[in-house]
Amino acid sequence: MLDGVLSLILQKSCPLCDRSTSTYLCASCRKRLDRDQFSDPTQFWKQRIFAWGNYTDTLKRTIAALKYERHPELGRLLGEELGRSWLKARLHPGKLTVIPIPMHLEKQQQRGYNQAELISRAFCQITGDAHQPKGLQRIRATEALFGLSPQAREQTLTQAFAIGKGATQNRPVLLIDDIYTTGATARAAIQVLHRHQIRVLGIAVVAKPSFEPRS
Ligand SMILES: [Zn+2]
Repeated sequence: MLDGVLSLILQKSCPLCDRSTSTYLCASCRKRLDRDQFSDPTQFWKQRIFAWGNYTDTLKRTIAALKYERHPELGRLLGEELGRSWLKARLHPGKLTVIPIPMHLEKQQQRGYNQAELISRAFCQITGDAHQPKGLQRIRATEALFGLSPQAREQTLTQAFAIGKGATQNRPVLLIDDIYTTGATARAAIQVLHRHQIRVLGIAVVAKPSFEPRS
């Protein structure tokens, strides 16, 4: 009886379809999410990109709910998934410094959180790596990238980041973001870390389009 009452209280609605659930997603959405998971998350590792799943269907929808529909708990779900598949892949034996790609402060204040940071925090709880959410700082808004040539875009982005607190030269960095598209953001972040003689192992993302986007 008490169990029944408790489970009723703990029931909430699935952020993707409104069906009731006691976990992050209802069973049917969860099943669909798993379909977007790559069978090999290391398939892009030659380019130093570790990607949990294909940026399509339910994974795309989950990330949109995380970013635009105030569902920060989905960052936890995705971060845990990413952490578990990272551990399984065994790409690096030692401890890493994990840094999320920062958002510009103003944008973060509007949203209330940086989704990459929610993902990296949950990731580190699974892997035991050192979380440094302020390892990089965003110092310039980059809203006006649209319409710029790829070169100009890259240039603007490089000036958008600065070194923050917690990244050290004696431990390699793993960057974390929600989505990897053209890679311009990741390259800019890596440049800043390299400028400070900090080694970057690569970037781990929840989603990447399985095709190569034209930048
Ligand atoms: Zn659902």
